[in-house]
Amino acid sequence: MPGYKATFLQELQRRHQCRICSLALRVPMQTECGHLFCKECVEPIFRESQPLCPVDQEPISREDTFPDNACKREILGLLVYCDHRDLGCDWTGELKKLEAHLLDCRYREIQCTQCGQLVPCAKLENHERNECPMRPSVCEHCLSKVPVEQLEAHIQRVCPKYLRSCPNSCNEKKYLLSELQQHLDMKTGDCPLEIVECPYFPLGCPFKHPRKEIEHHMKTKKVFHTRLHVDTTVACKREATETKKRAEELIGRMSIIETKSVALDRKLKSLESDIERAKGSSETDRLILKVNALEEKVARLQYSDKTNFFSHSHHGGGHSVPSSHLLQQVDQLYSKVSELDTTVTQCISNSMETDMRLQFVERASYNGTMLWRIDNFSQHKQEAIDGTTLSLYSVPFYTSKQGYKMCARVYLNGDGLGKGTHLSLFFVVMRGPYDALLPWPFEQKVTLVLLNQTPGKRNIVDQFRPDPQSSSFQRPVKREMNIASGCPRFCRLEQLKDGYIKDDCIFLGIIVDTSNLKLPVSTAF
Ligand SMILES: [Zn+2]
Ligand SMILES: [Zn+2]
Ligand SMILES: [Zn+2]
Ligand SMILES: [Zn+2]
Ligand SMILES: [Zn+2]
Ligand SMILES: [Zn+2]
Ligand SMILES: [Zn+2]
Repeated sequence: MPGYKATFLQELQRRHQCRICSLALRVPMQTECGHLFCKECVEPIFRESQPLCPVDQEPISREDTFPDNACKREILGLLVYCDHRDLGCDWTGELKKLEAHLLDCRYREIQCTQCGQLVPCAKLENHERNECPMRPSVCEHCLSKVPVEQLEAHIQRVCPKYLRSCPNSCNEKKYLLSELQQHLDMKTGDCPLEIVECPYFPLGCPFKHPRKEIEHHMKTKKVFHTRLHVDTTVACKREATETKKRAEELIGRMSIIETKSVALDRKLKSLESDIERAKGSSETDRLILKVNALEEKVARLQYSDKTNFFSHSHHGGGHSVPSSHLLQQVDQLYSKVSELDTTVTQCISNSMETDMRLQFVERASYNGTMLWRIDNFSQHKQEAIDGTTLSLYSVPFYTSKQGYKMCARVYLNGDGLGKGTHLSLFFVVMRGPYDALLPWPFEQKVTLVLLNQTPGKRNIVDQFRPDPQSSSFQRPVKREMNIASGCPRFCRLEQLKDGYIKDDCIFLGIIVDTSNLKLPVSTAF
């Protein structure tokens, strides 16, 4: 707090005034230059980097500034008026006694507990009795207690005993609240001036006029009303027919789906037995997982077919009650059916994929040789030239059931040194299930062959021994397969015409020498 704001009986002397706030000094402090300030007024100056006296710009410091207790005593002894002198308090006394007086002054302001206004203590009683807007009053009509402020609203809107006129001034009669409500009611009321709707409003009649005109309206608009009636009935009938038609269509689609899921079931059964036959191969586990997922899908499909069918089928059974709700249900059912349709298609394509994988397993070779037939050669080559598919991978093959897993990779338009001029053929070591038991790096001799399809003509053959330093022949741990390694200039492209390509098809062969390989299990003995 800066200095005292009190009103002094005599004019305040300059030496009792703070040179910053100009009020009577509160806790006076004297600086080394001899000027007096309230403690609180001078404090911010000491926080500056180079404090200067605001009167004479002399440097000042907190250490050399002291409280002036003599001055303080003088000021507290000065005579002052009460702060509420304007309201009528005639108290005077020493400044040091003002605080105690204010707590007790009968002109101090206190809050009215009813309305929250600040009211001088001496006037509170009068305020509460005669002025407070929240003081209680009694409704002269129903005798209930209502705050003064709300009395008018009570009488106009709530009072059950007050007699009031019709707001449309249709007559001179006075109504109780409940009677007036009846008088004005949209459907059952009798006020001729109240605005009402025509009974045909829900069917599209726009009439909204005082009640006294409705009789005339009903008489003169008979044809119009009949037409509204007919139009609505026709629309309802059309809707009902539409609904019935869609429901029938729906039942048709349902039975198609049922047939599809039965077919799917059969397909799964046959896949299952295929898998039984293929058991022992490394792909089997994955296939079984796949089939389980498929079975689940079919089960879900059949279940949702049936629930939907039974919960909705009664709508198709000849009921012709028109209802937009029913239409909405049919729509929902429709989209559900297309959803199911998609699921069935998905299931079928999934099972085809599984079929293909199965063929892979069946075709896989376990003797270290692989014969690779590439159909649609010209299309594949065009894709290699376009850059859409630069190379093709063969199916994996193995040196034995527990041996190395490998495949071939061919660039029909060449790669590296052979790009655009040669067919490039590479050999790839893949990550296999028995790698941990096999010797590494891979050291088997590899022979690459392009077969000539004219009897008696020479095959193209290339052979290499793996470089044990090359990363291509180390055990693949992090990736599915190693970098391909082989012959970028395996065969010149124009040479292919000499019997190597027939019916748009070529045959490639890979032969891995397995003569020095032992089965991992036999090394245990
Ligand atoms: Zn000074
Ligand atoms: Zn001050
Ligand atoms: Zn007072
Ligand atoms: Zn009040
Ligand atoms: Zn009342
Ligand atoms: Zn009226
Ligand atoms: Zn009408």
